Amino acid sequence: MAEFFDTHAHLDFPDFTADLEAVVERATGAGISRILCIGTTLAGSRRVVELAGRFPSVYAVVGVHPNHAHEEPENIVPELTELARQPKVVGIGETGLDWYRLGDKSPEELEHVRSRQRSLYRQQLEVASSLGLNCVIHQREAFQEALSVLAEYRGRTRGVVHCFTATAVEAKEVLAAGSLVSFTGITTFKSAQNVRDALGAVPMGSFMLETDCPFLAPIPYRGKRCEPAYVRELAEAVAGYKGCSLDELSRATCATAREFFRGLT
Ligand SMILES: [Zn+2]
Repeated sequence: MAEFFDTHAHLDFPDFTADLEAVVERATGAGISRILCIGTTLAGSRRVVELAGRFPSVYAVVGVHPNHAHEEPENIVPELTELARQPKVVGIGETGLDWYRLGDKSPEELEHVRSRQRSLYRQQLEVASSLGLNCVIHQREAFQEALSVLAEYRGRTRGVVHCFTATAVEAKEVLAAGSLVSFTGITTFKSAQNVRDALGAVPMGSFMLETDCPFLAPIPYRGKRCEPAYVRELAEAVAGYKGCSLDELSRATCATAREFFRGLT
């Protein structure tokens, strides 16, 4: 069976508390041989490091999601650096900018939240640069700014723009900036022709696969809780869209992930 990696999962979320062992076992059974668990807060980053210690197939990426930036300390560099040095930590993130879910806020609060996001994004790019790690980038309605800040760190760290849902033109912009994209179950949604066009436009070796579970289950599980095993259905769909074999897709996406995430074996 062709192996695949889930390069973006949130197994530390409460959605998985009741049946975590079974979830990891189902992934292994489906040929998903590596699961990268991504931190969204400092506390969550500690949890994903623990999960990596507990399950051989799990690796950790540590960082603070932009939507949590204003809830964390002003300076996360010391704690994040310490976390990033733990065994099986292979990247920094998810970090980035999110101008979408800002909620109902006064102009002053908005400015505060935005400036905290910008500050923590740069702090995480600095930590990644100083440790020689790459970054998982979350952006929503902030594509150009997220990419131009990342560009300042070119040569020191790279990013993967995860859950890629923009256009083929934007995908090529990411690659031209020396970074990568990764695709979720959204790729299988009927309405997501732009995402399939983006997938069609990027060469093998420049993209990875992910679930972003518990969110975004691919067809035929759409609307249900997503889990890493469903990378199998995603991979089958992606191989169809790319017109390649599952073995080719497996080789390319796993090699890309190993090259991008330092220490991922
Ligand atoms: Zn995520």
